[in-house]
Amino acid sequence: MDDLSRFAIHTATTRSWPIEGAIAEYAAAGVKGVTVWREALDGRDTREIGNRIRDRGMAVVSLCRGGVFAADTEAARSSALDENRRCLDQAAALGAPIVVLVCGAFPGQELEESRRQIEEALFALVPHAKAAGVKLAVEPLHPMYADSRSAINTMGQARTICERIDSPWLGVAVDVYHTWWDDRLEAEIGLCGRSLRLFAFHVSDWMTPTCDLLEDRGLMGDGCIPIRKIREWMEEAGFRGFNEVEIFSRRHWASDQGQFLAAIRTAYIEHV
Ligand code: ZN
Repeated sequence: MDDLSRFAIHTATTRSWPIEGAIAEYAAAGVKGVTVWREALDGRDTREIGNRIRDRGMAVVSLCRGGVFAADTEAARSSALDENRRCLDQAAALGAPIVVLVCGAFPGQELEESRRQIEEALFALVPHAKAAGVKLAVEPLHPMYADSRSAINTMGQARTICERIDSPWLGVAVDVYHTWWDDRLEAEIGLCGRSLRLFAFHVSDWMTPTCDLLEDRGLMGDGCIPIRKIREWMEEAGFRGFNEVEIFSRRHWASDQGQFLAAIRTAYIEHV
């Protein structure tokens, strides 16, 4: 889309840049929103980074990421909850309205049990989210990550958990990379929109072949995802947030990041 008013980038996309550099470069490229990768805040003053983003005329879109709720021991699940409370507090200090959640899965544990643990954790976290003034966005992950990263693999699973907990502080992050294959996607976006649960929208592309399960995402237009169509479904469902570029790619991280940022801007205009 030509309109750059909702053009956002996740700092992990240009991981080779320290966050201060990324903020300056994004602002100069006309980016309007920044999602902050939590590791990028290590050793920094969180409030100062939030102010730095706003001083450059950009919004903080979200803090990425919390979650990892599923585990085989009570102690591990309890310490995950503590970690997520710290993450919510950090988001509040940053001025981020949302924490994006990769909910977790434990290898060898049945997915139904992991989902039960995730729901229990989300239920326990919602009061802290409300107190911090920061929303929780469940991001369904592609089923290839169901073994170890998330037992929430479809929009339908994410929506069902949100409906059962039924809090305005809990919703869904839609990432085209994780959801494009789902024949229920348009319908689920509509259902989530109707209950005001569309909190975030992430874009990248699916490469053929995909050479790495985690770090081979494509630039928009380089793969097979109908990104613009999905963006239009989001808008038809009432979503008015940022279109956030989130590309985990070793190939792109190894490239000249200035040229990569220019390519992202062009791809956003042509394919989002
Ligand atoms: Zn994402």
